[in-house]
Amino acid sequence: MTNRRPRLIATEEAFATPELLAAMRELGPGPDRMLEMGGIWGRLRDNAPSALMDALLDLGEGRLAAMDAAGIDMHLLSLTSPGVQLLDAATATEVAARSNDRLAAAVARHPTRFAGLAAVAPQDPAGAAAEIERAMRTLRLNGVVINSHTDGEYLDQPGFEPILAAAEAFGAAIYLHPRRPPAIFDAVMANDVMDLSAGMWGFAAETSLHAVRLIMSGAFDRHPGLRLVLGHMGEGLPFWLYRLDYMYHVDRRLRGRTRPERPPSDYFRTNIAITTSGMNHLPALEYCIAVLGTENLMFAIDYPYQETGEAAAFIRSARLSEAERDRIFFANAERIFHIAPATA
Ligand code: MN
Repeated sequence: MTNRRPRLIATEEAFATPELLAAMRELGPGPDRMLEMGGIWGRLRDNAPSALMDALLDLGEGRLAAMDAAGIDMHLLSLTSPGVQLLDAATATEVAARSNDRLAAAVARHPTRFAGLAAVAPQDPAGAAAEIERAMRTLRLNGVVINSHTDGEYLDQPGFEPILAAAEAFGAAIYLHPRRPPAIFDAVMANDVMDLSAGMWGFAAETSLHAVRLIMSGAFDRHPGLRLVLGHMGEGLPFWLYRLDYMYHVDRRLRGRTRPERPPSDYFRTNIAITTSGMNHLPALEYCIAVLGTENLMFAIDYPYQETGEAAAFIRSARLSEAERDRIFFANAERIFHIAPATA
């Protein structure tokens, strides 16, 4: 051990590229689509100024200054939600590749400050699988980000199998990031009076659904090496582990359920990691440590959507042993995302 301040890696930090902005602008007036991420895409379409969009586009000095001000050593960058997942398959595949090139260049410029998750286009599963290989082998990126559903479809569905297989084969953890739930949710989540479909509720409700679908489909039995990462303190699922297991055993006894092979909670030990993004709440952190331990728990901010200073102060205020702190601050991220350890 050294006496140096432990390095702090933030693992769910968003950026955007000009290619993505241009493609989103061309999508046209579809109002539902432009509501993604609190309406920033609508402002983009209207050419309205957006400090948020400026922060997303900055892969240089402005971002580094925000990190330095709060003692953040590294951003693990990911193309902001919904990424390329609203675009047609060919455009999405192209924009993902160009954004990944841009990401790799930023990491090359600042290798101790940035790492990156590749964007892929699930609309073209074979193309996405090829991009995962290119991102991990050629671009030396650190994993993959997928913004939950694609056109209302989920990664446990058979068509997406090449993506899961490639992620497993090339050691690319899939960071399952939220986006606006499919339009069918609007009937119960979004109307003229209130819209619960974004960060307040819909993101976590739909992303946790996606993760449970993956677990219950046996995805981690088919792909034992597959790693899934959930933000927002596990999108609520750590609180549900007892009940997921209870109902799993009921299903096995009464209905002969055969998948998954192990109780759902067990996959949080072997295949699923969580991050603190956007959940700067000590009781929730302490609860997650109590039920999950600290081997699969990582720090994240959700830059620029949430406050860097608050997130840094939150994690530094947690009562952690030195070993727990090192795992949460940097060691788990280094292991799960293949990030090179800091040199002394
Ligand atoms: Mn985020």
